[in-house]
Formats: sequence, C-alpha cells, structure tokens
Amino acid sequence: MLQESVARRVAALRGWLAGEGLDGALFTSGENRRYFCGFTGDAGALLVTATQAALITDPRFTTQAKQELVSAALIEQPVGKDRLGVVASAVLDCGVRRLAMEGSCPAADYATLRTKLGGVEIRVEQMRFLAMRAIKDEGELAAIRGAIAIAEAGFDRLIPQLRIGMTENDLAAELAYLVAREGAEGPAFSTIVGAGPRGALPHGAPTGRLIQNGDLVVVDFGVYKDGYCSDMTRTLFFGDVSAEGRRVFELVCGAQDTAMAAIRPGVPARDVDAAHREFFRQHGCEERVMHGLGHGIGLQVHEEPRLAVTSEAILAPGMVVTVEPGLYYPDVFGVRTEDNVLVTQTGYENLSRTRREIHIG
Ligand code: ZN
Ligand code: ZN
Repeated sequence: MLQESVARRVAALRGWLAGEGLDGALFTSGENRRYFCGFTGDAGALLVTATQAALITDPRFTTQAKQELVSAALIEQPVGKDRLGVVASAVLDCGVRRLAMEGSCPAADYATLRTKLGGVEIRVEQMRFLAMRAIKDEGELAAIRGAIAIAEAGFDRLIPQLRIGMTENDLAAELAYLVAREGAEGPAFSTIVGAGPRGALPHGAPTGRLIQNGDLVVVDFGVYKDGYCSDMTRTLFFGDVSAEGRRVFELVCGAQDTAMAAIRPGVPARDVDAAHREFFRQHGCEERVMHGLGHGIGLQVHEEPRLAVTSEAILAPGMVVTVEPGLYYPDVFGVRTEDNVLVTQTGYENLSRTRREIHIG
C-alpha cells in the first residue's frame, strides 16, 4: 500500500516539476522525506528528478534506509565527508539546472547549498508540497484514526484519576504515561494544561498550579501513530463551575457545531472560520477569539488547510482538519474544545468520539 502511495505522490510531484519547468526537487524535512520515499529516519536529503530519486544519508541510517526506501536509490554519505557537499554533488550529477527546495530548509544549509550549486537556479517552494499532503489517502487516514483512538483511550483512562488538588503537571504526566501505554509513538506537541485563569493562555504549558474547586481546565494534547498526528482539546469542569463558565462553554460548543455544519467539499476554508466568528459575533463575544478555528493534521500537527481568515484553501475530500473554537477571558478563565474532522465526498465525518462535557469531582 505504501508502495502505491509513494508512486502516486512522486508521479504527482514529477507532473508538477514538468509543468513548472523544474528539473528536480530537494527535500530536507523529515515529513517530506517520509512522504515521498518512505524513509522515517531523522537525517538525510531526498532528491527527486524526472527519472531518478535518491536519498542521501549518513551511515547511521544505512540499514534503516535499505529497509524502508520505496523506489529511491540510497547514496551513503562517506564518513568524514561534508554532508552538504555530497548533496550538491548528487544534484549536479543528475544534471539539474532548475531545482525546487523546501521553504523549511534551515537558512544556513540553504546558503551553503546555494554556494555549492553555483549556476543552478533554486526556487524555494513550500505551499505546493503542503497542498499535496493536505489530501490524505486511505493509509494516511488509517494512521490518523489510529492516533485519535490512542489519544482518546488514554484520555478515557485519565478521567477517573483526576482530582481537585492535583497539579497541572500531575495531569500532564499522567496523561503522557497513559497514552504511551495505549501505543503512542510520542506526543505530537507539548501538552497544554491550563487551570482556572491559566486557561486564558491558549498555549500555556502545565505548571505546579493546584487545580481548584470551580476551575475550568483546558487540556490540549496529541500523539503520533505510524508517523501521523492527532490533536484534541477538552475543557474539564472541576467541581462547582460558575454559571458564567457554563455559559461560555455552551457558546464554544455552539460555535463548534455551527462550524462543522459548514464543512463540505468546495467550501473555502476561510468560510468555515467565518461561520464560527459570526456565531460568536451574534452572541457578543467575538472579541474573545484569539486564534483561527483550526488546521490540517497529518505528518505534522499544523498543516494545510488552515481554517483561518487568511486561508486560500478550498476544502476537498480527504482533508483532515481540527475544529477548535475557543473563548479567552484573561485572568479569569478560557474554554476551548477541539475535534478532528474528515472532509468527505458529501460533507464531513467527525473522527473524535470523546464527549465534550466532562465533570470531575
Ligand atoms: Zn490542539
Ligand atoms: Zn489544534
């Protein structure tokens, strides 16, 4: 299955290269290496031309590369030889005159390669590759569903262990352990835990703060499975939460329902963001929004398409996005809830199963 997927991706890439008058593409990020040749190691450069594909990596990864590479040759960088010099030689040996490079290539590597490649014209490209990765195939969807299932299973086991008086750090540590036991390859990003006033920090790291009676606690986390991410948020009710807290929670849920109802193929991603903002505007709380509605997930936790005001993307079947409205009241509390949604042929499928309202104590 991976063989077919990689063949399809490389064919699409070559079609794009030909259309743009480019001779090759050089991938330096782990995500694009994996996507276009199956290699999961954390160092190397993948060169794809109209007729050839080769991974340049060092001897630490030789065995792994031989096991994993799908229709790409292996160029082993000799010990003690300059890494980027070997990459530049491969590009020149393939006769590349116009080369696409990833925008995420480190600036220092880019500058060095630019010098070593002399007369080769380099075009920096990012969005095209992200757009290709935005639409997931069956294998990718299975991996994402797996990552979601692991996160939700760990979270289900966390709930009965939660107590008023534990710290944000306690909660994050327990969750990390439970998802690891469920089979997570690792966290997709640093877990966010914000209790009470700290919930108003949309990306607050957990601290030693004690969770108190009446706290709303924002928990945002994700895991990797087979290289793919999940990303979920729940705002937990610890003890006797204020009527205002409950009211804001209901508004956030209403915004999420409204946004999901707008998801279907052909809809501009920014319109889905606009739907949730309009819902909040009608309820007089739009100024409490601090971020876009959501983002694609895949090999990275933040991918195309973005559900945001500035997004140019059009929704298409096979895209997987988060839908994560939030309202933030600095020094008081914050509420966010986040599910993962697949765009289908006719609308959407919510891949998340965990209930939204969860009471502790
Ligand atoms: Zn999240
Ligand atoms: Zn997210």
